[in-house]
Amino acid sequence: MSKLHRVGAAALVMALGAAVNSVPGPASAHQRKLKVHISVDMEGIGGVVTGEQLGPTGFEYGRFREFMTREAMAAIEAAKRAGATDIVVADSHGNGQNLLIDQLPPDVRIIRSWPRKLGMVAGIDDAVDAAIFIGYHAGTNNVAGVRAHTFSSANLTRVALNGANVTEGSWNAAIAGHFGVPVVMMSGDDAAIAEVRKAVGNIEAAETKRSLGFHSALTLTPQAAATLIGQRVTTAFGRLQEFKPFKVQTPVVVDVSFKNYLPAEVLSYLPLFERTDSHSIRFRAKDMAEASAVMSFLGDYRPDITP
Ligand SMILES: [Zn+2]
Repeated sequence: MSKLHRVGAAALVMALGAAVNSVPGPASAHQRKLKVHISVDMEGIGGVVTGEQLGPTGFEYGRFREFMTREAMAAIEAAKRAGATDIVVADSHGNGQNLLIDQLPPDVRIIRSWPRKLGMVAGIDDAVDAAIFIGYHAGTNNVAGVRAHTFSSANLTRVALNGANVTEGSWNAAIAGHFGVPVVMMSGDDAAIAEVRKAVGNIEAAETKRSLGFHSALTLTPQAAATLIGQRVTTAFGRLQEFKPFKVQTPVVVDVSFKNYLPAEVLSYLPLFERTDSHSIRFRAKDMAEASAVMSFLGDYRPDITP
């Protein structure tokens, strides 16, 4: 069955609403499939402003794992109400082990930890009908946005795709697009949303907070953020046919600038990489899957990694 047919069926299920959803008994053989991928980062979760909320050494991390899980749950529940039959959630922040998985429903599957191919959208494939980004943040070249960075604030100062600076949201949307999957909804601060919409188009969005600076925000409460996310996911599935996969021109050209000098020097020993300035390299990839694999390599490889 084509993706378009499944999307049409989902809209029909939405339109029929409770009547269809209340049919008793196990999922029948004719139940339409609607597969949803949800990638969850943490910087864009309501209330997050500093590292205190973002990692195991922060005094508020434990609480914010709960809030992150609550926002993910809001998206999951709204997707299920809209007819999602198969949901994959990718824990895509820090150590990849933030979501409190015992709080998620038994019929979702969760991708955890790194390294992994396709990074923050690992688990996406051409059977997925819709992608959702929760808790996303602005890119490293954005002058606004709470904790704005692209992939690694410690190591990278710029990532560009076909000449345009990217945020994680637009990069991941391009990977989803490679598999024919549209991004339908995202949440995060105002800067993150504006950046992804500029690249990808008018997706649904839940603004969990307004960035006042790198480490400050005017924020919704956790419950209000979750409620808004649920509403916007519902709206997105109500107009699912309108979203188009974000397709970038191939082969893709990726520019990466490092904070330090030596990564650019040493990588330029490899014919894959062209050194474009003291701190920067460029590579070409046949498509976003290949580009993603190279970026994962750049982020994950060290000669002393174990085991
Ligand atoms: Zn993160």
